[in-house]
Amino acid sequence: MRLRNITGSEEVIANSEYVINEPRGHRGSWKEYLAKEKELHIEIGMGKGRFLMDMAALHPDIQYLGIEKYSSVLIRAVQKMEQTPLPNLRFLLIDAKEITEIFAPGEVDRIYLNFSDPWPKDRHAKRRLPSRQFLQLFDQILKADGRLEFKTDNRALFDFAMEEIEPAGWKLQEATYDLHKDERMREGNVMTEYEEKFSSLGHPIFKYIIYREK
Ligand code: SAM
Repeated sequence: MRLRNITGSEEVIANSEYVINEPRGHRGSWKEYLAKEKELHIEIGMGKGRFLMDMAALHPDIQYLGIEKYSSVLIRAVQKMEQTPLPNLRFLLIDAKEITEIFAPGEVDRIYLNFSDPWPKDRHAKRRLPSRQFLQLFDQILKADGRLEFKTDNRALFDFAMEEIEPAGWKLQEATYDLHKDERMREGNVMTEYEEKFSSLGHPIFKYIIYREK
């Protein structure tokens, strides 16, 4: 998702109380700074933030951080937070490839990847967020018994993601090829913006939950 450049979005983001602008300074101390006794859950590639806003409202006992690389997209989430502020949600304007500079080993309790960009060309496979290259980065920041949850409507991307699990040293906990019809896995499901859009067109939603044995 890349929106046309929105004039002034970088300035608004730089001055927003909902965006943490020097995130590297909190590496290793996110819990003390933000989460206190709470678990820290992050969505990487959050887009306009609908999923996180709903999750943060539903789970006030969890601290959420949304990560997005484009200011033209993040601005939409910031505007929504200005309308409906949530104390347990903040945003970071960074690229996922910098993630280990932002979080110390084991600092994150759960990672969400929702409707990640598919990068369909083979030569771009390592840009896909569920690729083994990214899973190796996520492995470093997720706590030992933490879970990574991934949803998409893109079958090719999901098949790719399933094949990356083992070579990256992760294990599959569970998966579904039709989340909205899977009685167990759909329990507590919160729809993302893309999920709403594609499921309304009749696309099945694929989801896995993965972990490591540490
Ligand atoms: N998660 C949202 C949803 O499900 O509605 C948005 C999905 S959108 C297709 C993917 C988002 O991930 C885009 O906003 C894109 O800018 C962001 N993104 C892609 N690669 C990223 C990266 N390397 N780091 C941070 N954000 C990224």
